[in-house]
Amino acid sequence: MSDRGILIVLSGPSGAGKGTICAALRQQMPNLVYSVSMTTRAPRVGEEEGVSYFFRDKEEFQRLIKEDAFLEYAQVYDNFYGTPKQHVMDLLAEGKSVILEIDIQGAMQVKERFSEAVFIYIVPPSLDILSNRLRDRGTDAADVIDKRLSKASSELALAHRYDYIVVNDVLPDAVEKVASILRAEACKIKRNKEKIQYIYKQYGGKKE
Ligand code: 5GP
Repeated sequence: MSDRGILIVLSGPSGAGKGTICAALRQQMPNLVYSVSMTTRAPRVGEEEGVSYFFRDKEEFQRLIKEDAFLEYAQVYDNFYGTPKQHVMDLLAEGKSVILEIDIQGAMQVKERFSEAVFIYIVPPSLDILSNRLRDRGTDAADVIDKRLSKASSELALAHRYDYIVVNDVLPDAVEKVASILRAEACKIKRNKEKIQYIYKQYGGKKE
């Protein structure tokens, strides 16, 4: 891997398959750590504290905002979501790559602070397919699904701010594409300065 861990930001509409892609990636890439976000929304059936999210009330969330405890945070629909900062910074310093599954508002905040992060937008093949996936998932009420679909349309207009776009049509293909992006990013010259120094020394040359 590269000198430091890579900060990877994955966004896309709910129902794009980000969670499934993340889970598959972590199986393939053991050095990849998923950052567990904090949220004020209620847990859904099957969600676990500290695994899916850290579930907190609004007062606690506001307190943490004041303490500057978030790398980024945003209000998504009617709730707050944020990335706890310290844990991510420690992992990157240890050389681990960290994946943030966050919305576009949060992604743009990360972009301001970490120009070297990698931004990937996951998109379903069509709005119809997204709509069917959300309904089949059965976790959200009809009005919530409508909100998610309208957010998906407005967000897509901003997808050009990301470095990569991956259409999640066939899941294993989408996973392979994201894995390829991460492998290529890890090979970038700018991420391998220590390795380059070492190689130059071996060859008895000098780096310009
Ligand atoms: P859900 O409620 O479906 O779990 O997530 C709703 C949206 O919030 C998704 O687009 C998800 O990517 C986003 N989200 C989850 N965690 C965070 C976070 O820590 N920060 C931001 N900005 N968005 C998040």
